[in-house]
Amino acid sequence: MTHIAVLGSTNMDLVAFVAKAPQHGETVTGREFRTIPGGKGANQAVAAARAGATVSMIGAVGNDSFGTRLRSTLEHSGVETDHLRTTEGSSGTAHIVVDDEGGNAIVVIPAANGTVDHLAPGDEGLIASADALLLQLEIPLAAVLAGAEAARAHGVRTVLTPAPAQPLPLELLNATDLLLPNEHEATTLTGRTDPGAAALALLEEVPEVVVTLGAAGSLYAARGAEPIVVPAPQVTAVDTTGAGDTFAGTLAVALTEGRPMPDALAWAAAAAALSVQRAGASESMPYRSEIEAQYT
Ligand code: ADP
Repeated sequence: MTHIAVLGSTNMDLVAFVAKAPQHGETVTGREFRTIPGGKGANQAVAAARAGATVSMIGAVGNDSFGTRLRSTLEHSGVETDHLRTTEGSSGTAHIVVDDEGGNAIVVIPAANGTVDHLAPGDEGLIASADALLLQLEIPLAAVLAGAEAARAHGVRTVLTPAPAQPLPLELLNATDLLLPNEHEATTLTGRTDPGAAALALLEEVPEVVVTLGAAGSLYAARGAEPIVVPAPQVTAVDTTGAGDTFAGTLAVALTEGRPMPDALAWAAAAAALSVQRAGASESMPYRSEIEAQYT
């Protein structure tokens, strides 16, 4: 098994389902409430672990009941949590209102995730021992940069999902091996709406770019090569929450196992297609045997 380290967020999603979202000053009665373990870091860790890698999570949860559940959810999926710190105070939460049209409004409170602004003792050693480091932007940029630079120093491949979308410092892009934006994030980073044009612009800062294209699959561009588009399997999507995180986690597994990029992208697309056919984020992520059955 290959070893993947994930440096990122863990959140408890607190989801209220309502017919119509309340306006300012209004109170409405909702239909259902769910607490769903999430956070892009934790979701990518679960995806990679289910896909068959040894996965270590670096980050923080609070010393509240959410923190206990977030940790046990990761461990239940086989993610190693020795480097997931427990801090004084609340775990990260996302307060989500979903209406009957499928629209949503979200408040994210980073809480414990906000304390992950540096590498703790031992984190660099863990990163050095990994085959790849997965990064996203739901923890302070200082830690993302420190992680990328530690990985670079030890020759460990970094895969950065630039979400939530925001302009990035050059030094972070320059410490990234593979940048993995969706179309919206690619546009935010470059100002270009065409994914191919955005990928080419990003190649000035990073050697490899994969732009995910939703149901259309993904576009891969590398310096000195013609970009390629790898299609996604045609399926009926039920819930696309976490599709990008499934794609990121499983792509990392395929690449660290030595699959060539086009095969790795098809493998990740097979995994993400399975996840969108089921409700939920991390609970909808497929296991390796399911991916293998879908990937032919
Ligand atoms: P994000 O979830 O980050 O917004 P995308 O929407 O681009 O990212 O989806 C990520 C990947 O998930 C896509 O590249 C694709 O492989 C898969 N995917 C997303 N939506 C669908 C869909 N409707 N059918 C099949 N695959 C999908």
